[in-house]
Amino acid sequence: MYSQTENTLFAETVQFIRQTFGQSEGTIPLHAPVFRGNEKKYLGECIDSTYVSSVGQFVDRFEEAMALFTGAVKAVVCVNGTNALHLALQLAGVERDEEVITQPLTFVATVNAIAYCAAHPVFVDVDSDTMGLSPTALKSWLEQNASIETAEKAEQNKGKEQGQGKARKPGTYNKNTGRRIAAVVPMHTFGHPCRIDEIAEICRQYHIELIEDAAESLGSYYKGQHTGTFGKIGVLSFNGNKILTTGGGGMLLFRDEALAKKAKHISTQAKVTHPWAFVHDEIGYNYRMPNINAALGLAQLEQIEGFLAAKRQLANAYKQFFAGKPGIKYVEEPKDCRSNFWLNAVLLDGLRQRDAFLEYTNRQGVMTRPAWELMHRLPMFNKAQCGDLSHAEWIADRLVNISSSVL
Ligand SMILES: *Cc1c(COP(=O)(O)O)cnc(C)c1O
Repeated sequence: MYSQTENTLFAETVQFIRQTFGQSEGTIPLHAPVFRGNEKKYLGECIDSTYVSSVGQFVDRFEEAMALFTGAVKAVVCVNGTNALHLALQLAGVERDEEVITQPLTFVATVNAIAYCAAHPVFVDVDSDTMGLSPTALKSWLEQNASIETAEKAEQNKGKEQGQGKARKPGTYNKNTGRRIAAVVPMHTFGHPCRIDEIAEICRQYHIELIEDAAESLGSYYKGQHTGTFGKIGVLSFNGNKILTTGGGGMLLFRDEALAKKAKHISTQAKVTHPWAFVHDEIGYNYRMPNINAALGLAQLEQIEGFLAAKRQLANAYKQFFAGKPGIKYVEEPKDCRSNFWLNAVLLDGLRQRDAFLEYTNRQGVMTRPAWELMHRLPMFNKAQCGDLSHAEWIADRLVNISSSVL
């Protein structure tokens, strides 16, 4: 079933992972959370205060600490990363029947959030080294498919596509569909930053809003700047399998204080502040993270430097172990990046080899996972417009994530 070289390679890999994690038997998970700080203390304080839900000091403390850590002007908590993405797109002005460009190699949440806005995803390829949205592919797709419409031109074109004599918003329009391209959402895959400064520059040229899905990249920097702080809004996730967890949770990172204030308002049912009256001035959401989750998050954030150091050490050990091994290639930190190494990854020689490796390792109790099924192949999104996606397809056929917990 496996070739002789595969047998040796796979067995050595399993042995190395078991040895590294000091676990000679039982299942080794892909990414387990660790609680070695003030988690129990803060949770206890939270319960003792009775403020476990939508009011309490841990939310403010967690937001302030996270803004400080990432260098964002303001941070606003959410119930999870998916609804943080939804809120971010809405705050960026994405409306029904507009288009949002993203990458096909991502977790489904990125694209679901676009669908929640009744907008249409457009898939553009990733770079093969960063595995995140490629500025080269983005630029070439826009050059071929989009045209910039100034306020003046929008006035002249008024009613042309929509037929209602309504002035079109100035911005960039897709020449094939006539729809406005409202936002670009790159994702920093497995914690490796994409070439976000070049993407930001393209977005500026085309007047398209930039929303970063930094759900996997807390603690990752591009040219010294924290991911999630390059665009209008950045989104983090604190799900149980992420580098830091609040049980479930998410966060929005802002450069603009007024927009952060608006996010807080909309995420708390758009309730007008008043000592007793219940008045709401627009349609809002119940997207605010409860205080008890923020208590857990604050305790976790206090340990982030240790988590990052441990993950870097593990990454170095993998890099050394896989160096020169035929048939497998460790995915390294891209140029100009400081990665959090959220999920380590290797590339096998092809689909058959990938599946053989997945089968062997999982049967041995060492959890490994392939990349997500590409978004343009899922039934909900398989009619979406796509650029050339050959890098994403190449990666998806070969990539496997391997054990990455903090040691
Ligand atoms: C985890 C993740 C999210 C958000 O997930 P939640 O579970 O809703 O917090 C969004 N995008 C990507 C790429 C993710 O990995």
